[in-house]
Amino acid sequence: MTTATNNTLLPTSTAGSLPKPTWLAEPETLWSPWKLQGDQLIDGKQDALRISLQEQQQAGIDIVSDGEQTRQHFVTTFIEHLSGVDFENRQTVRIRDRYDASVPTVVGPVSRIKPVFVEEAKFLRQQTKQPIKWALPGPMTMVDTLYDDHYKSREKLAWEFAKILNQEAKELEAAGVDIIQFDEPAFNVFFDEVNDWGIACLERAIEGLKCETAVHICYGYGIKANTDWKKTLGSEWRQYEEAFPKLQQSNIDIISLECHNSHVPMELLELIRGKKVMVGAIDVANHAIETPEEVANTLRKALQFVDADKLYPCTNCGMAPLPRAVARGKLHALSAGADIIRKELAILSS
Ligand SMILES: [Zn+2]
Repeated sequence: MTTATNNTLLPTSTAGSLPKPTWLAEPETLWSPWKLQGDQLIDGKQDALRISLQEQQQAGIDIVSDGEQTRQHFVTTFIEHLSGVDFENRQTVRIRDRYDASVPTVVGPVSRIKPVFVEEAKFLRQQTKQPIKWALPGPMTMVDTLYDDHYKSREKLAWEFAKILNQEAKELEAAGVDIIQFDEPAFNVFFDEVNDWGIACLERAIEGLKCETAVHICYGYGIKANTDWKKTLGSEWRQYEEAFPKLQQSNIDIISLECHNSHVPMELLELIRGKKVMVGAIDVANHAIETPEEVANTLRKALQFVDADKLYPCTNCGMAPLPRAVARGKLHALSAGADIIRKELAILSS
């Protein structure tokens, strides 16, 4: 299999979202409303994407993304483009078993009437020759961010979303995306469902793809509902243990995880030995910028359980809610930390 990153050891990337410029959307806010409209909004999103790409490049990030500049939220923006979902008819549901949010209602059969992100992916592809990664929500996380008044079954709805995601993913691949990532924070919460149908739906979503595929599983953005939840998880976070054995057996190429400053025991990575691992070495729930040595320490620990050629330094999650200067500093720290380990590995092999 050809991969996007054949030549770089420890290729760096981000989990997905990066802060938007303040002229485009309210800073440090999730579901932030746009400040522009119509054609100005279209232009503004493209300009923001260019800036976000440049910031990643200047920080030395190897696998770049759109920084999710064109979407309001990683799940709802995708759902907004589907038919069968009524955005006026909102219900309050408990998301990830953790916080209440007002979400749209599934009122009929869901389908993708037109491509969702394909034009944006083509635009990003035009801007750079570097490998690009594109994030989509995973089927289970989509189901968990909706009120379903039609299928009345999380599993049935997830299979429908998996088919839709597969259509989108195939067009993203054709647009030149090198890695398609599915965000599945719900995998850290609904363990029985993960093993009953969650991973199977994910495999349906990647069916027939030739590009690389990733799943991102995390403990969420650094918002209060998530940090409060983390406080209830005890001193060792073993949630990954539930999904890892089946994921190791799955066709997914890369698994993206939260590691730095988290209470995930690093030895759990042994359960996915053989997979490529995007190791979260940047804490997104904290404004303190990591030192390169802190990043390197996390990567060193991960290297005990991940082969060096399969280790992809990354952020724990998206950085959309962070101040821009903090996110920029963290990107630079990620690159510098990866560089420390590259040099150590070069000495070992010389
Ligand atoms: Zn995440």
